[in-house]
Amino acid sequence: MKQIDHIGIAVESIAKTLPFYTDVLKFTYLKTEIVESEKVKVAFIDCGNCKIELLEPLSNESPIAKFLAKKGEGIHHIAIKTADILGDIRFLTDHNVKMINETPKRGAGGANIAFLHPKSTQGVLMELCEKE
Ligand code: ZN
Repeated sequence: MKQIDHIGIAVESIAKTLPFYTDVLKFTYLKTEIVESEKVKVAFIDCGNCKIELLEPLSNESPIAKFLAKKGEGIHHIAIKTADILGDIRFLTDHNVKMINETPKRGAGGANIAFLHPKSTQGVLMELCEKE
């Protein structure tokens, strides 16, 4: 765990939001992907030292739809890059950090991901993110 991989931002519509990031902030749009397991559409934006993922729900059952209904658009999670997700989950658990996912699941971009429980992180939803 050494650097932030991406910041996930919940939005009602990627189509409406993306021009702000590309045309106004001048970041580079990379690609859009559907993550079936989370019922979410993800747009990847390269910000140089970090990425932003815009998260748009595809159904009311999506965790992002529930987040939007409760809190509205905004920062959903911060993802930390890891090269050893199983080792880091063990390390965090050993340091009394409660995990939402004690075993990794498949996330956007084919990454292995696991969420830390916000109760252990001052209310910030954090994700471990391991890419090949
Ligand atoms: Zn993420």
